[in-house]
Amino acid sequence: MSMYHTKSVTELSAMLQAGEVSSVELTQYFLERIKSSDDKLNSFITVCEEDALAQAKESDEKLKAGNAPALTGVPIAHKDIFCTDGVKTSCGSKMLDNFISPYDATVVANMRNAGVVMLGKTNMDEFAMGSSNETSFYGVVKNPWNLKAVPGGSSGGSAAAVSARLAPASTGTDTGGSIRQPAAFCGITGLKPTYGRVSRFGMIAFASSLDQAGPMGQSASDCALLLNAMAGFDEKDSTSIEKEVPDYSADLDKPLQGLRIGLPKEYFAHSEGGMDAEVEATIKAALDQYQAMGAELIEIELPNSGISVPVYYVVAPAECSTNLSRFDGVRYGYRCEDPKDLNDLYTRSRGEAFGAEVQRRIMVGTYALSSGYYDAYYLKAQQLRHLISDDFTRAYEKVDVIMAPATPETAFNIGEKTDDPISMYLSDIYTIAVNLAGIPAMSIPVGFANNSSGESMPVGMQIIGNHFEEAKLLNVAHKYQQVTDWHTRLPEEFK
Ligand code: GLN
Repeated sequence: MSMYHTKSVTELSAMLQAGEVSSVELTQYFLERIKSSDDKLNSFITVCEEDALAQAKESDEKLKAGNAPALTGVPIAHKDIFCTDGVKTSCGSKMLDNFISPYDATVVANMRNAGVVMLGKTNMDEFAMGSSNETSFYGVVKNPWNLKAVPGGSSGGSAAAVSARLAPASTGTDTGGSIRQPAAFCGITGLKPTYGRVSRFGMIAFASSLDQAGPMGQSASDCALLLNAMAGFDEKDSTSIEKEVPDYSADLDKPLQGLRIGLPKEYFAHSEGGMDAEVEATIKAALDQYQAMGAELIEIELPNSGISVPVYYVVAPAECSTNLSRFDGVRYGYRCEDPKDLNDLYTRSRGEAFGAEVQRRIMVGTYALSSGYYDAYYLKAQQLRHLISDDFTRAYEKVDVIMAPATPETAFNIGEKTDDPISMYLSDIYTIAVNLAGIPAMSIPVGFANNSSGESMPVGMQIIGNHFEEAKLLNVAHKYQQVTDWHTRLPEEFK
């Protein structure tokens, strides 16, 4: 029996190019896996069977003609935050449950042009606000390693789908940790690129100064292939950066001799709500492995890291409150029944279609931006953001990359934190500063540790780089994945 789900994108791409498998065969195989297993996970909102098979057929023709790009015929899934021409794009919200996008996001178009086949759209926290996928209008996603646990969020569907190999890879977005935290919880590899490296056009906005799209896959080499197709300047996104895209697959094998790894002392400090002891031991074992490969560990300071969560929870809600004002029940999306007047139309449409977490963020953000409070909150948060960013600039004078846990603990159980937003917000304590600074970071699987219910769950380690150093991060991650096999492990039920 074919076992295509045990193959990486890198391997599948080679098999397609060599004609050992057709894209139609592969696409059918993964559609079957989704059909037979996704009722356990709920990782997809929409499955695009017909479109996917049509795209696969086209890809097979391109492959036959020769000179087809590397990803031609590889099936993947897109987070449902990316607009997809003619396909429902819900952003995990009742507000957009009836929205069929009339165009492709640039990420989707780039992937299409690279020959990628879209299997479907993955579940996510509503408007990407959340850390557990529990805020989705389409219901919670389950973690393939333990169906009682959350997959993380907001890209929880993308992470679960790849972890269970219902798709060889997927796309995600990361505003405060939404690629890295679910990647860590589900034992896969995820990369948040530098702010501006990947176009945000057609990616439904949450917090525009933080949002960034990136690949979620089995390995660093898979993420490199995907980023090659995703990245690049886009005149339709004024914040996308006009800078050449290197070949991210080219330098994966560079030796790590002499690599200076910074360890932020604040992240490893023992404090209330800090890192779980088993997670810490797992991270330390990974760091030992890096030392054995010739890297040097150097303690660094990120003195302002303690303010990153509060700064984020002013900046992100402020920006979301303005971004989400476009959903007014008039132009597209949900509209309430029989509005009495315009005001009633606005308030009921928004009140009925936005979930509780989204409403909480809009209220916090509107307050932070209101006259009289703007200076005290939003402006102050933007000033503090510079301090956080300067911490990293200073650190990169001494080190090449920074390593840290992705999350303080492994995947918690469904329902465990839903009544406690603050404790939910703290699950991004190690990821948020990276978004505030606009720098790139990955999460890679480095082992297992027990969660609060004593279940063994994947641990993710972050590798954080300076602006535009994605290639270096991918190299550092790839070398580790060549001498370890955490990234190839599959959850028992999905083997
Ligand atoms: N969990 C964070 C939040 O709820 C980050 C989400 C994200 O990166 N999209 O805002």
